[in-house]
Amino acid sequence: MMAAVLYGKEHLEIESVAVPELGPGDLLVRVRTALTCGTDVKVFRRGYHARMIVPPALFGHELAGDIVKVGDKVKQFKAGQRVVAANSAPCFNCFYCRRGLENLCEDLLFNNGAYAEFIRIPSRIVERNTYEIPDHVSYQEAALVEPLACVLRGLEETGVMPGDSVAVMGLGPIGSMFVRLAKVYGARVIAIGRRQSQLDRAQEMGADEGIIAADGVDIVPTVKSLTSGRGVDVAIEAVGHPAAWQTAVRMLRRGGTVNFFGGCPTDTKVNLDTNLLHYSELTCKASFHHTPKHIQKALELVTSGEILAVDFINRTEPLSNLLEVMRHLMSHNGHMKTAIIP
Ligand SMILES: [Zn+2]
Ligand SMILES: [Zn+2]
Repeated sequence: MMAAVLYGKEHLEIESVAVPELGPGDLLVRVRTALTCGTDVKVFRRGYHARMIVPPALFGHELAGDIVKVGDKVKQFKAGQRVVAANSAPCFNCFYCRRGLENLCEDLLFNNGAYAEFIRIPSRIVERNTYEIPDHVSYQEAALVEPLACVLRGLEETGVMPGDSVAVMGLGPIGSMFVRLAKVYGARVIAIGRRQSQLDRAQEMGADEGIIAADGVDIVPTVKSLTSGRGVDVAIEAVGHPAAWQTAVRMLRRGGTVNFFGGCPTDTKVNLDTNLLHYSELTCKASFHHTPKHIQKALELVTSGEILAVDFINRTEPLSNLLEVMRHLMSHNGHMKTAIIP
């Protein structure tokens, strides 16, 4: 089969490799859509990801496809079913899993290899985090479930309520999902991005207000002026930059909650005003990854049509063009997702 193999920093080859062998509880899936993800772009740029992937390795983790073969012991699935498999599954047994924090599992099993004709889904993911796709849901929509589950969990962590004002900083695929989802939750959304085209797109998805973040201009007074001078109930940082983390904190109302969703480069630090944190009783959250429960909820959201692929995927390319697609995404921050069709 043809597959993308990541060898290191910006080194990716599309080559012929053996179709994976199945263990008794595994599935073999013919990949119909694999989506590019900001994490993949980051891994491509850096050459590794401590927790998710160590090269040389098969690459890509957001996928939907058809089961073509099942292991001898698999009972709940059969060949021919359309499925979406998450990129990880928790152990259900460790300190964190027992506390419902499966995203922080000490033994989280990751699976990569979506940019390929076939992918092996290991038994633990088959048992705990693989789902049949309803007939009317496209492969592209189903493949959105993984990032959407992360966003869903991130938003739930803020305790957002209908009518709350939510500022979303950063309007790439993840920030845009926050915009859309915050609207589904009945919030008033202030979208903050660097380009007018991003704001236009956010407003099409329901954002109530848009602010351009230009270099050297403090956006906090504008955010406050849109919230009777108070600041927002919830701020979501989906940029992944220390300066943006700091700005997000300053745009909160008293008692407000920030979610530092965007992971920053290793060894970076932030400066926060202790008096502001204390006397305004601010809550700081930082969400990472998803749980099986959120994957299921995300699938319900795409099944009900609340989340549409067309809002987050703006390009379709064959697997042979993956290297060019990665390079393009690397140089165009905030670009939407590409659907890779292997
Ligand atoms: Zn992803
Ligand atoms: Zn665990």
